[in-house]
Order: sequence, then structure tokens, then C-alpha cells
Amino acid sequence: MLKIDQEACIACGLCEEACTFGAIRVEGDCAVVGDNCTLCGACVEVCETGALELIREEKAPMADLGSWSGVWVYAEYRNGRLAPVGLELLGAGRKLADKRGVPLAAVLLGSGADSGAGEGLAAEAATLVAHGADRVYLVDDPALAKFSDDAYGNVLADLVREHKPEIVLAGATAVGRSFIPRVATMLAAGLTADCTDLDIREEDGALLQTRPAFGGNIMATIVCPRTRPQMATVRPLVMKPLARDDGRQGEIIPVKPDPARLQSRVTVLETVAGELEKVNLNEADIVVAGGRGLETPEGFALVRKLADALGGAVAASRAAVDSGWIPYPHQVGQTGKTVAPKIYIACGISGAIQHLVGMQSAETIIAINRDPEAPIFNVATYGIVGDLFEVIPKLIERLEHNRTQ
Ligand code: FAD
Repeated sequence: MLKIDQEACIACGLCEEACTFGAIRVEGDCAVVGDNCTLCGACVEVCETGALELIREEKAPMADLGSWSGVWVYAEYRNGRLAPVGLELLGAGRKLADKRGVPLAAVLLGSGADSGAGEGLAAEAATLVAHGADRVYLVDDPALAKFSDDAYGNVLADLVREHKPEIVLAGATAVGRSFIPRVATMLAAGLTADCTDLDIREEDGALLQTRPAFGGNIMATIVCPRTRPQMATVRPLVMKPLARDDGRQGEIIPVKPDPARLQSRVTVLETVAGELEKVNLNEADIVVAGGRGLETPEGFALVRKLADALGGAVAASRAAVDSGWIPYPHQVGQTGKTVAPKIYIACGISGAIQHLVGMQSAETIIAINRDPEAPIFNVATYGIVGDLFEVIPKLIERLEHNRTQ
């Protein structure tokens, strides 16, 4: 909290000037602080009379920190299929668990009665073992056929309370973003959303959770040293899954949840795929992306032509989306989609960090930019320095020529 010593305050207004949030102002002969104070301390630094004091309440470490052990991955299951992000997280979780010398477990919630379009719940439990899990907690109940925040949240939180894993990871998908914060709240745990890197701090085994901060201008590494579990979400396609190994041995542990904990206050009537899901950038092997360098909607049409010639999908930087050349579902980056195709061709995109976080896991990155200093060339496998209005038509011509040979 920010403590104001009314005797010492001379109402000089320096604190008001220093506060970028407008959270402190002088009223009468003393400063007063509002609810939007972020406790940044800028006012304390400029106060010349020592009237302001920042009192930070240190949270006491949990008494039983050492009794939490193991790494868990929430494996999302919809319509009879595992979401690929669960396997990607097992790849990352395997490394963390090995560093800690603890088992890696997956938690699979759903209904075996609903085999949907995929393999079905039991088969997917075996898939999780083949991709690195030592254990799978399998909760198969008709009440879990449709996702609901409260039932899924209760079941996962109860399992965590019972088995005490030190780390819980989940995908930052629509489902993960919806109920994982609820689980963290129920467990009074911290949660770092949208991590791009995870590691273990050797001295104390704490989870190092790295994610972009301040609009992507810095990478922040966040640690939760005093509470357990340490919880993080990771966007799809950021981590790499392990190759499937059907020879791996693992234990599948059926769990019967308390029926009272499966009650939901929400009835799901229908699930409809939104516009965002209909653009299948995530599944395309080749993605051709255009940025501000295309200059006009007509210029952007070149990107579509190149994508057509390659049989790829079309993506864009935020600048292109903001210019109205292509709708938002095609945006790649921090506030758009994350993609990891075999080939990503960036045309007239400078390579701002907010764009890079959405595409830097692509296997091969080809950048076309007339500025040899453009940051996109720092991540590009192949760079073409040139005017895209000359380069792209030549590429299309060559591709079409090859096709007719
Ligand atoms: P510019 O940076 O303007 O780059 C245009 C490039 O085209 C330049 O490098 C130029 O040399 C090149 N060029 C111009 N003409 C030609 C030509 N004739 N031939 C060849 N090259 C040419 N951005 C995203 O993309 N995705 C996001 O999700 C995203 N989220 C954001 C979130 C936040 C909180 C913030 C603050 C920003 C975000 N941004 C995002 C915006 C990001 O910072 C950049 O502004 C944006 O990516 C720039 O887009 P651009 O590269 O197309 O445009």
C-alpha cells in the first residue's frame, strides 16, 4: 500500500506530476491516492519531504512447499480429439520433469461416450503416454462431454489438491484461457499466461516462466517462489512435441470425480466455431504473409497470388489488418495467431517483436524486404533484399512456369 504522512505532505504536486496513471492528486493541503494506484513507486521517488512510503506486504512462503512434486500438463480434448497443444506441452514438460527428476503426468478430462471425429478418450490417453507422459489421470464422465468452466475447474483443482504437482501447464486456447485462471484462483496460485519459454532455476527448482511484456518490447521472466503449484499457459505451436514412441510405458489412472463437483451452473446449448477458427492458418504448411510494404489493397493482392501459386494460406501483419486489406483472423503475432508452418514467407513486413512471437517457430522463414537492416532478416532462413513489387511477380512467374513444365 501507499502510505501518505499528512503532517509531512506540503501539497507541492510533484507526486501528481510523476504519476503516469493519474492515481495520486493533491486535494486541499494533502495528496490523496486513488484505487488505480499500481504501487509503481514513481511518486515516492520524487517526493522531497519523505511524505510517501510504499509498504509492500511480503507473502509468507507456503509451509509445505517441499511436499509439492511432479509436472502436470492439462491435455485438452474436444470432439474425440486431443488438441495438439497438449502434446507440445508434454514435450516441454518432459524437459522440466527430467531436470527436476520428477514424473510427468497428463490430465485428460472428457467423456468416452463422445468419440466425436477422433480416436476417443481411452486411445488418446495412450497417445499422451507415447508422447512423453509417465502417468495419465483419466477422468471419463458424461458430465464432462461438453466443456464448462465450473465442472472442469472443480475436477482439475481437486486433482491438484490431492496429488500436489509443483508445476501445472495448459494451452492458451479458448478453453485453457477460460478455466485455467479459475483453477489458479481456487488454488490461490500464481498463473503466467502466454509463456514463450519455460525452464527450471537450478538453485531452487523454481519454474522460470518467460513471456513478452510491455507490448512485447521486453521479455519478462516470472517466478512464483512462495506458492505451489506454479501455473503457466503456453500458446499452441510455441513448443515442440516429442516424436511419438509407442514403446513408452506409462500408467493410466482412472479417476472417479465427486458427482457434486460436476454440477455446472451453465448449460451449453450449442458450440459454434467463430470466424477466427474458420481461417485455418494453423494447419497450413506454407503461409505467405503481407505487411505495410504492400502499400494498398491492390498491392496486397500480390500476396494472395503468391499463396495461390504455392498452395499456401494468407496471413498478415497487424499493420496490414489495421489498414483494412485483410480481416483480423489472418493476423499473425502477439495479438493475432501463432503459426509454425514448414515455410513462412514474410513480404514487406519489418519484423517487429510483436509479429515475430507469432511466427518465429516456422521451420523455414523467407523474408522479402527492400531494407537490408529490417529486423525480419535476423530470424529469416533466406532473405531477399529487394522491391517486393519486382520480386513477388518473378516468383509467381517462375512457379507457374515450373508447374506447366
Ligand atoms: P512496418 O513496420 O511499417 O514494415 C513495413 C516493411 O515493409 C518495412 O520493413 C519496409 O522496409 C518494407 N517495405 C516497404 N515497401 C517495400 C517494398 N516495395 N518492397 C519490399 N519491402 C518494402 N503486429 C503484428 O504483426 N501482429 C501482432 O499481433 C501485433 N500485436 C501488437 C500488440 C501490441 C500491444 C503492439 C503495441 C503492437 C502490435 N503489433 C503487432 C504491431 C507491431 O509493433 C508492428 O507495428 C507491425 O507488426 C508492423 O507491421 P509491418 O511490418 O507490416 O509494417
